[in-house]
Amino acid sequence: MRNIHALKLNHPRAKSILLLAALILAAPNLQPQSSPSINSNRLRQHIEAMGAIGKDPVAGISRVAYTDADKQGREYTISLMHAAGLTTTIDAAGNISGRLPGGDPKLPTLIIGSHVDSVPLGGNFDGIVGSFGAIEVAQTLMESHVQLRHPLEVLIFQNEEGGLQGSRAISGELHEQDLNQSTRSGKSLREGIAFIGGDPDHLSAARRKPADIFAYLELHIEQGGTLAAEKIDIGVVQGIVGNSRWDVTIEGTANHAGTTPMNERHDALLAAAKFIQAVNQIVTSIPGRQVATVGKIQTIPGAYNIVSGKVILGLDVRDLEQSRIEMLFSKMQDEAQKIAQAGGTKFSFQPVIDDKPALCDPRLRQLIGSSAKQLNLSTKSLPSGATHDAQSIGRLAPMAVIFIPSIGGISHAPAEFSRPQDISNGANVLLRATIQLDKEVWK
Ligand SMILES: [Zn+2]
Repeated sequence: MRNIHALKLNHPRAKSILLLAALILAAPNLQPQSSPSINSNRLRQHIEAMGAIGKDPVAGISRVAYTDADKQGREYTISLMHAAGLTTTIDAAGNISGRLPGGDPKLPTLIIGSHVDSVPLGGNFDGIVGSFGAIEVAQTLMESHVQLRHPLEVLIFQNEEGGLQGSRAISGELHEQDLNQSTRSGKSLREGIAFIGGDPDHLSAARRKPADIFAYLELHIEQGGTLAAEKIDIGVVQGIVGNSRWDVTIEGTANHAGTTPMNERHDALLAAAKFIQAVNQIVTSIPGRQVATVGKIQTIPGAYNIVSGKVILGLDVRDLEQSRIEMLFSKMQDEAQKIAQAGGTKFSFQPVIDDKPALCDPRLRQLIGSSAKQLNLSTKSLPSGATHDAQSIGRLAPMAVIFIPSIGGISHAPAEFSRPQDISNGANVLLRATIQLDKEVWK
């Protein structure tokens, strides 16, 4: 028997069969796991460690873009990228990029990411969950030996909270002439970008071409209370609402508060009060999730004893449909006209911001939904009332946003909180969606 075996094993075909068997036995270490999971503890530890950077002695986190705390947070982020095996660079706009090569370098890049700057006295979850969740996804792919076809890039956009500056540089919406504007840090945008390692003199080098981006996925906290209140695990974002703002100037006649009879007044502030009421009434009179706010008022001259001659209001209208924003604004203008006629005042509207709605790609939304379903997580489709970098990247490529619950719907405040389980769920959905997305072939 031994001889026969020996004879057979020495046969060239037997040798190759043995080699194959050895490869199959070694396979568990080499073969990709079919459905890897992120390391929840590691992700939680990274988020906690970030919470110490920019921590206010009383409450909250201040990692305002271009401050020392922002720089420290970015350095920590880069260290996590290196630990995850990513090759890092900083682009001309100061965005941090961490790359993992793909199996086919000719394919466009699959981008995941978010931001690590914060508002003053904000929380530690806005931006961080998506940024560190994306790094965790990359690290899990590496550790699980999952090789994507597309190059994977974890992109950390700079100064999201100060007007999507980093992502707008990428989409070509931030221009060199904008760089002299001041920022919350006290530095100009130009100084700030240089401070974090960007090259403001060559800002346009940060621009990307649509053909270079396959798709963009962003994980983010909801920043509203819908998911937490309805006990839903994952929000599949329909799109980021458009945001239009106007300065509404109301001109009346300034006059003596003691000697001007009530029926002879052209009171700009009274007209403003009626208009504020009308805005609220118009927006709540139809079903839907549209919102409008007058959050700013300046009255001129602004004294006890003077009937107001001029008022400037700040009007903000948001919805997922641009046509709806326009319809609401048109009704507001009609109402303003009536108020003006009744009180002898004059209204004018100066546009300040006109950010168009950015719809999430339906194919990506479906992918997020099916990834969540595979993980037995409940989902709900909802709009994003807050702006995100995905909005800018959506100008170049298909994008989608995954929400996790924000407890109590609190954000941009020290009480901002998302549970570790929800964060872990969100990162796992991002991981699955990334793996699935990589297999898609879109024409
Ligand atoms: Zn954010």
